[in-house]
Amino acid sequence: AKSANPNSISKVRVIVRVRPFLSREIAAGNGDQTPCASVVEQESDSSADEVVVYLKDKDTSRNECYRLDSFFAQEDNNVGRIFSREVFPLIPGLFHGCNATVFAYGATGSGKTYTMQGTDEMPGLMPLAMSKILSMCLSTGSSVELSYYEVYMDRCYDLLEIKAKEITVLDDKDGQIHLRGLSRVPVKSMSEFYEAFSCGIQRRKTAHTGLNDVSSRSHGVLVIAVSTPHDDGSGDFDTGKLNLIDLAGNEDNRRTFNEGIRLQESAKINQSLFALSNVIYALNNNLSRVPYRESKLTRILQDSLGGMSQALMITCLNPGEYQESVHTVSLAARSRHI
Ligand code: ADP
Ligand code: MG
Repeated sequence: AKSANPNSISKVRVIVRVRPFLSREIAAGNGDQTPCASVVEQESDSSADEVVVYLKDKDTSRNECYRLDSFFAQEDNNVGRIFSREVFPLIPGLFHGCNATVFAYGATGSGKTYTMQGTDEMPGLMPLAMSKILSMCLSTGSSVELSYYEVYMDRCYDLLEIKAKEITVLDDKDGQIHLRGLSRVPVKSMSEFYEAFSCGIQRRKTAHTGLNDVSSRSHGVLVIAVSTPHDDGSGDFDTGKLNLIDLAGNEDNRRTFNEGIRLQESAKINQSLFALSNVIYALNNNLSRVPYRESKLTRILQDSLGGMSQALMITCLNPGEYQESVHTVSLAARSRHI
């Protein structure tokens, strides 16, 4: 990756996606299906490159407003549009050795996995990015390698290995991060991608036997590494990495009643999400010290956040959860604050 240039630090865009009500929620509801989040229409002459997100509790009429970069309402339920507007712009840099990161952030049940991974009928941002990158490789002669790991309780586990092997994180003297032992699978087609990806998804669900639903309590990180040969025939190449991350569910400890392992997990999750928000805040506000070392996740992402790297945080909301959405959006807006 290219070294950091303090004059060209890219801002981290922070956007919101509200998922639709699910049929079971509609069936169980009392008829009022007004989502708790909407966007305040800006004056047409407003040049501000931001949106005002309005959160309202339909029962108590309590409300809050937050400024963010963009908003995808539930009526606009098309991940392809999020891909083309927000994720595609991060891809060309990969072919020049720049890294990029996309996070899905939000409470459990807010649509993070649906957005990143998707379903067979509706592929998410991970397969959409892979497909776009593979088609761009045809004209650049680049090659692609896939890695997939999860960060659970501050430890990293390879999801493309038969046994969920632990990976060690090392940083060398010039700030490059190495994940020792992480497998890298060459991918030339979408069928090769799906073969590896499906195994990884399955492992993410079953890796930690005895523990309930670890997949929503760990960060899932898919890495697409693109290596592009220099066109001077020197045999040298540039490698850019795209990190696509399904973050662990953000929890409001004032509302959940966790005990034992759950409480420890929850503390680790909140600590790492808070560290992430602090890093994004520091980058967006040009602070001289970016606190990457405050959590395992931010340490791993040190070479893919800030500097020449571009990043996007997709804040996912459940339309029926006002208090939870306020908790999520306030942390997102706090990290964006400029
Ligand atoms: P999370 O990963 O944040 O815990 P999920 O992605 O598992 O949440 O989504 C929770 C439920 O909502 C799932 O049943 C999923 O299929 C559904 N869902 C989420 N987002 C959407 C969407 N945009 N459109 C339709 N269904 C969705
Ligand atoms: Mg999930």
